[in-house]
Amino acid sequence: MASCAYCNSLILFGGSREGGFRYCNETCRQNGILVHHASQLPAHFVQSQTRAVHQGRCPKCSGEGPVDVHTAHRVWSALVLTSWSSHPAISCRGCALKRQAGSLLSCLVLGWWGLPWGLVWTPVQVIRNIVGMVKPPERDSPSATLQRLVAIDLAAQGIQQAQAVQAAGVPPPIPPAVPPGAS
Ligand SMILES: [Zn+2]
Ligand SMILES: [Zn+2]
Repeated sequence: MASCAYCNSLILFGGSREGGFRYCNETCRQNGILVHHASQLPAHFVQSQTRAVHQGRCPKCSGEGPVDVHTAHRVWSALVLTSWSSHPAISCRGCALKRQAGSLLSCLVLGWWGLPWGLVWTPVQVIRNIVGMVKPPERDSPSATLQRLVAIDLAAQGIQQAQAVQAAGVPPPIPPAVPPGAS
């Protein structure tokens, strides 16, 4: 049986195809293309861009770095329905702590009120928030997750630029293998 090349869900019928890969839906197809393009970028270019983000200012509060990926975990319930989700975001530690503390509180208030999954997922998500708060990513070097997100972002920018150039009817410039200033 086929499975989605991006999210690994099983595909029973249909799905999207792109370059020999199958995806369960359009969102996964687009994400899959980005991951593929990201894997083609020169490693030193991705690394230098990742270091720049890591040492740069926080995109949320413009405060001092280091900046990395911090994940907040949420759960809410209503009778027999329970919904849980995890939300990674790029920020400084201070912004991350505020977001994770907010999610922790919201889990404690909204999580329990569903049977049976509210009782299972509320402690799980509460603990995941606490672990995220007391064990943040290393300060000295960017995490692998940050590098992956930066690579996907660079791939998305590259595709957008190529589309803009195509729309303008100008032949695309050949990008330099090593960007100026990168070590
Ligand atoms: Zn998928
Ligand atoms: Zn911040």
